[in-house]
Amino acid sequence: MKLGGSVITFKGRTPPMVNERAVRRIVEEIVPYSERLVVVLGGGAHGHQAAKEYGYDNPETPRAQLLRGVPAIRHNMTVLATEVEACFRNAGLPAVVVTPFSSTILTERQIVEFPLRIIQMAMDASLLVITHGDVCFDTVYGASILSGDTIVTHLAHMLHARRVLLGTDVDGIYDCNPKTCPDAQHIPLIDLPHRGGWEFQAGPSASPDVTGGMGNKVRAVIEASKYVEEIVVFNLCVPGRLRQLLAHKETVCTRIVRGGRVGSQV
Ligand code: ADP
Repeated sequence: MKLGGSVITFKGRTPPMVNERAVRRIVEEIVPYSERLVVVLGGGAHGHQAAKEYGYDNPETPRAQLLRGVPAIRHNMTVLATEVEACFRNAGLPAVVVTPFSSTILTERQIVEFPLRIIQMAMDASLLVITHGDVCFDTVYGASILSGDTIVTHLAHMLHARRVLLGTDVDGIYDCNPKTCPDAQHIPLIDLPHRGGWEFQAGPSASPDVTGGMGNKVRAVIEASKYVEEIVVFNLCVPGRLRQLLAHKETVCTRIVRGGRVGSQV
């Protein structure tokens, strides 16, 4: 499950700040769930602001400048992960943070090494793993941003996940950005590879986001759909929706399946 940075942080606020109220409520919705779960945090304000400051949104930024930005982004992401971890632990959940930076290597932003074994061992030990978008060393660019959406896709594949839940600040995928198109139409089901006839433009986030907003999410979703039965993009800002999804009940969302394969009745 991915907790969107737009929900768990105040994306427009500088210095970055965790939306503790939202995180506490999300954790309450997770408490009754008893199956295996990995929680991936989006960077939100903590990741994107520092990443932007050091030029991670510009392909022309010199390697040395990207590398100078590593400590600031790392620090902010550690603060976010630690605060979220504390909320899980306060609710009695055995949460541990597995930080990508220390054991991830990227090549042209693609994962070459990732702490998968540690995550598997933590899950086998019945711990609740929290990992997060991060800045990581990149063999080509020096350093690049590993987005939470990319991590979700990687883990879905490598851990043979049954479902992927992507929580964000809108009700799912629309035919255009619902924050800028007044007539945007919500898409309840996308059946890949033909998309069930839907055409949609997935653009950037309305808030500072160096990882490409919904555009990157849609690419991640299409990739992840090769490996999991079902992907759900839903509004994590609306109380109760996550609880419904975890209980396999119906709620407003976009479900993505492949080739008419519909998993649980979400
Ligand atoms: P998060 O931080 O929750 O992962 P992002 O901010 O990266 O989410 O992406 C979600 C944003 O993407 C939405 O708030 C919306 O403004 C924007 N967006 C752009 N195109 C679309 C689309 N076709 N459908 C839904 N949202 C879209």
